[in-house]
Amino acid sequence: MSILIVGSVALDTVEAGGRTVVDALGGAAVYSSLAATRLHSDVSIVAVVGRDFPDEHLATLRSERVDTSGVEVADGLTFRWSGRYHEDMIGRDTLDTQLNAFADFQPKVSEDLADAEYVFLANIDPSLQLNVLSQVRAPKLVVADTMNFWIQGKRPEVLRLLERADVISLNDEEAWLLTGERNIHRAGRAILGMGPRRVLIKKGEHGAVMHGAGEVFSLPAVPIETVADPTGAGDAFAGGFVGCLAATGADEPAAFRRAVAYGTVLASFCVEDFSVAGLLRATPQAVRERYDHLARMTKVPEAC
Ligand code: AMP
Repeated sequence: MSILIVGSVALDTVEAGGRTVVDALGGAAVYSSLAATRLHSDVSIVAVVGRDFPDEHLATLRSERVDTSGVEVADGLTFRWSGRYHEDMIGRDTLDTQLNAFADFQPKVSEDLADAEYVFLANIDPSLQLNVLSQVRAPKLVVADTMNFWIQGKRPEVLRLLERADVISLNDEEAWLLTGERNIHRAGRAILGMGPRRVLIKKGEHGAVMHGAGEVFSLPAVPIETVADPTGAGDAFAGGFVGCLAATGADEPAAFRRAVAYGTVLASFCVEDFSVAGLLRATPQAVRERYDHLARMTKVPEAC
């Protein structure tokens, strides 16, 4: 089952825990595709980079089995994002967002990629997400992500995206911004009313909640004692979620709960290091061990 991902491919400058990395490989499509390929091999991305984007980063993606044939190299600079984490490693300030090559990007989905069965509309301008989706013929499942930058700047497009997506993934602050509801269960219900069949609300170190299909499923995060850089955790979560569903093709409620668990596991690898280093260490065996640990940790005994 093929997965098509559209989203940012970026050079990130991140300050976290007293360390700064400059122009490191990042972007929503990068984090999510690397998470998805831990579980499933048929993953392609559609994006644009500038001529300044180091070849070695494309080589890294390819060596990790991400198909980059849909990555255009345009004149000008690569998308850049810079952020600083607070001491608690949860709050963060966005210092700068430069769309650069993404500002004029006209995505073209090739004939092959237009047959994708799973589509992940990772974080980028919702107009681009909708444009890519309109070029995919008959997707079995469409998962979308967004963030405060777009909810505030392009709300009508975000609402159109919600009407077209089967699953929407966002964090608790974004759910609040979108709905005005502080309580995540009320926010989840309000977002279900906007179109998607399932809503994933991520709560950082407190885990994630999935609403939809008549159930609420909540899972804590994998306990990680040393968080180096939370950048990309949400994207890794979504990549793991989609990768798990595509790996089996299953779509019953338990398959979605398992996908939330794999998303949780992949996010935990992501935060252990800067840029994509943590995800690259997520070998099949390491992912499986962490999945089993999470399964044991969350199993409650019979009632007394
Ligand atoms: P997350 O930590 O899950 O919110 O993801 C952070 C990643 O998203 C970084 O690698 C950024 O390059 C990328 N990013 C930040 N802002 C935007 C934006 N407005 N649109 C698309 N991608 C973004």
